[in-house]
Order: sequence, then C-alpha cells, then structure tokens
Amino acid sequence: MAEPYKIVIGLEVHVQLLTKTKLFCGCFNKFGAKPNTQTCPVCLGLPGSLPVMNELAFKLATRAALALNCQIAGFTKWDRKQYYYPDLPKNYQISQYDLPFSHDGWLEINIAKDTKKDYVAKKVGIIRAHLEEDAGKNLHDESGKGADTMVDLNRTGTPLLEIVSHPDMTSPSEAIAYLEEIRLMLREIGVSDCEMQEGSLRCDANVNIHVPVIGTERVDTGKDYHATPLVEIKNLNSFRAVGKAIEYEAKRHYAEYQKDTQGTFRFGRMLKTTAGWDDARGVTVVQRHKEDAADYRYFPEPDLVPVVVSEAEIAEARAAMGELPQAQRKRLVDQYGLTAYDAQVLTAKGRATVAYFEAVAAALGDGKATSNRMSDLIYPALTERKEEIAAFPFDAAKFAGFIRTGPTNSQARRDVFKIMLDEGLSLDAAREKAGIREVDEATLRAAVVAALAANPKLTEDSRNPKKPNAKMGFIGVVRKTYPDAPTDLVRRLIDEELARV
Ligand SMILES: [Zn+2]
Repeated sequence: MAEPYKIVIGLEVHVQLLTKTKLFCGCFNKFGAKPNTQTCPVCLGLPGSLPVMNELAFKLATRAALALNCQIAGFTKWDRKQYYYPDLPKNYQISQYDLPFSHDGWLEINIAKDTKKDYVAKKVGIIRAHLEEDAGKNLHDESGKGADTMVDLNRTGTPLLEIVSHPDMTSPSEAIAYLEEIRLMLREIGVSDCEMQEGSLRCDANVNIHVPVIGTERVDTGKDYHATPLVEIKNLNSFRAVGKAIEYEAKRHYAEYQKDTQGTFRFGRMLKTTAGWDDARGVTVVQRHKEDAADYRYFPEPDLVPVVVSEAEIAEARAAMGELPQAQRKRLVDQYGLTAYDAQVLTAKGRATVAYFEAVAAALGDGKATSNRMSDLIYPALTERKEEIAAFPFDAAKFAGFIRTGPTNSQARRDVFKIMLDEGLSLDAAREKAGIREVDEATLRAAVVAALAANPKLTEDSRNPKKPNAKMGFIGVVRKTYPDAPTDLVRRLIDEELARV
C-alpha cells in the first residue's frame, strides 16, 4: 500500500577532489598518512600565513559543475564561515557563500522500475555546487577504556566540492540512484575517487514529509498539504545507510504528525534539526537545532582575490569531461540496440568496460550478443577474481575470438571459459578437459536422420510453415546428445533431411 504521505528529500554531497595538494597550500592531499604529517602554517591557520588558491582544484570543480549542467559564474569569491570546532584550527572555514562558482544545474538519474529490468529517467535539480576547504578529523578513543580524543589535521584544508540538490527526490531508492549517478560520473570524469569508506564522498540528507490536507481543514487553511519540519541527517556512511535513515525519518515524522495535537508540526512551530544516524541501532539521534546562515557570520575572505572565469577556461573544462554516463547509456541503446537495462549495467561498470564492449561488438558485429556474453562470462569472472577489466587475461580480441570459435552451448561455453581462465589453457585444451566433443557434420547428420525417424509427428509439423517452432524441437533433440552442436549447422541439416524424405 502506498504511504499516506509524500517523502521529500534533498541531498548535500561533499566530494574530495583528486588534487595532489590542498586547496590553499602545498601540503599533500593524500588519504592514510600518519596523523599530522601533512600540515603547514597555512592549513594550521598560524598568524601571518597566507592562502593561495590551487588552480587544479578549481579546474576539477568546474569540470564537475559542467557535468552537472550548472551555470558557471564569471566572477566568484571566497568567504569565511565562522565556527569553533577542535578539528578547525583557524576557527573558520574558507567556503563560498553568496557567490558560488556554479549554480542552477540538473542531473538525470535512472530509477529502476519494480522488475529491475527497466528504468525510467528523472531529472534532479542542482541548486549550487561550490568549493570549500575540508576540516580535520577527530579520532575518538574507541577502546572503551578512556575518553581521549585526538585530532588529525592532515585533512584540514583539502579541497571539497559541495553539491546541493533541490528537494526533488521522493523515495530512498531515488536518493540512492542519485548518489550512484554522482559517484559514477565524478569517477569517470576524474574529479574524485568517491570512496565513502575513506570519506572522499560524504552525504547529508534533508528529509521531511508532506501530508495531504483533507476535508474542511483544506478549505479553512487553503493548503494542499502540511510539511513537517526539516531534519538534516548526518553520519551517513554508506548508500544503504542513506536509504535506511530516510525511511526511518519518514516513518518517525508521520508518527509524530499523527500525535501532534498542539499543531506544532501542522503550523511549522518547530525548528529545523540536525540528527545523526546510528547505523548499528538503525535510528536517528537528534544532535542540535540547526544554525541559520546568520549564526556563521559569513564575510568575504580578505586574504584571497576573487576568481574570474573566462569562456576559454569553461571550454577547456568541458572538453576534459568526455562522454558522460547519461549520454553513454543513450548511445549504447541507439547504436547497439541494447535494452535500457543492459546499457545501465554496462555503463555503471565504467568507461574501460564500455570500451572493451565496443571493441568486442565491433569484432563480432553484434552488440546485443556481446552484451549477453559479457553478462554471462565477463562480469561474474571479474567479480570472482576481484579484477579490473584492464587486468583481465582476455583482451577484447581474445574474447571475441572465443565467442566466435568456442562452444555455442551456453553451459559448455561457461565451463570452457572458466578452465581457460583458471588454468591458462588454450581453447582446444580446455574443451578437451571439459569433455566437450567436437562433432563433425557426418555424425550430426546421422543424429538428425535418427531423430526424424523417431519422431514422425514432429517431422510432419516441421514441414508445416504454419508451425515454425517445430524445427526448434528437433534442434533440442539433437542438442541433448551433442550439446555443443552449432545451431546454424543443425538447422541446415534438418532442412536438408526434411527436403530429402
Ligand atoms: Zn598546509
């Protein structure tokens, strides 16, 4: 049953950019170093130090914003966002407030229909994408013994792109589809590695629900729905957690709404809140009421000059994007006749896999068959071997050769492919080892003749043009004895023998 309310979701995504150095100093931007070994007076905020903008960070951010169909501002500046936190030694963060470098974009996402075999496209609006520096990290003692918390400032000052969506998503699965699309796209265009485990992709979800207003109340208030107060959920450390947290919050909002006799929810008398997600317990925990922009006392950063972006720089960033996943999916459908589902699966595996597919499809002259064979053989093997396509023992030419000359029966093909992969054997040796018999034409013809003689009814039907499927029955009979017999050959032999009798 459908829920008696609509879930409204906006996402704030932070991604760390793939630069060598930090946003405003020359310290390394690298995950996993010993704590506090990648710092300098600038990122530590020592008096007298001055920031200098990292040009590559700005280029990568521009590339990402263009991929998100955003408008790039010709003039943009930096602002100080004031707050005190132990992992922020300057007591302010350099960010962008009223003049972000990009705004008003959109991202098309694919939503799986119930069957998962089809997808519908949906556009999610992007309010803005801006650049800022990251804060450090507090390392809490989790031994259970003491209360020590240490601060690691290696991350302080690393470049962060914040992407703020419109509240256009209406279900946990849409939110996850959006995140998957952002991750795929930013990886493909070389902007971020988007590793949630390492914190290079982080997500906060803004969630509330709209409950339809009915009856006289609708007439009295003139409202179509009541909106519950916004909750911003933080600490979402996996896509699964994003989905679960949204689902939990929506249910909680509706329960609160139903209990709400004071009209606190109905009339918006509640403040926005920030909540953390406790993944182990599967609940959100309210942390604080949310600050307004005024609480941060933003003001222009006096140590940095504004950035003026030229048309040439925008053109350069656009050229560096390459083909985006959304365009690629459409092309795979148009050019190779793939289904939306197959195109979605293939594109999600990345550009290297798409290039491999295109090389095999060109060699075989059949995109659909290539897609099927890759789903049968390549994808499971990559998963099992934990390998990237670039390191896979079969290059595109070898795989195309295998499809052309290897077993035609699907089980036989899988067996032989696995032996070739696992043991490095040649096609012939693997076929031998799998016990798959090569059949010559004479043997097959004898089998066809025997099958025709043994099945008079089927023979009669096979001569009847109104029963085109009858011949398939014979192919099945012959294949029982010779599973690797090529379909085309068996079909020709059947036709020849039928004409003879
Ligand atoms: Zn530094």
